Amino acid sequence: MNTTTTTTRIPTPTYRQTQSGEWVVFGHPTLVHPNSEVAVRKRDGNLKWEEIDRIGKVFETPDGPRVYGYIRRRTYVAARSDRAPGGRRCPECGSAACARAWDPRGLCDED
Ligand SMILES: [Zn+2]
Repeated sequence: MNTTTTTTRIPTPTYRQTQSGEWVVFGHPTLVHPNSEVAVRKRDGNLKWEEIDRIGKVFETPDGPRVYGYIRRRTYVAARSDRAPGGRRCPECGSAACARAWDPRGLCDED
């Protein structure tokens, strides 16, 4: 019997690079949520946990719906010149990439 069951495959999210050069998480909308962590399959096959800041619009692919998840930037991004100007650092966590380094009234990323 030829059963054409619609198997809902929900593969592990992967990384994608957007046209602006930003690395985002590419996965099924049931897995990629704002303000939550998701395990992402790296090119070497290992998993890495990423914290999703926000997501884009859900779009359809031949494999089902997908969405881009924008990764919350962490302190290690500081190595990529994402630092507050003037050598300012967060008084709480000491990071130059922390939101509070940019604005002393802001909230520390590491709270
Ligand atoms: Zn901080």
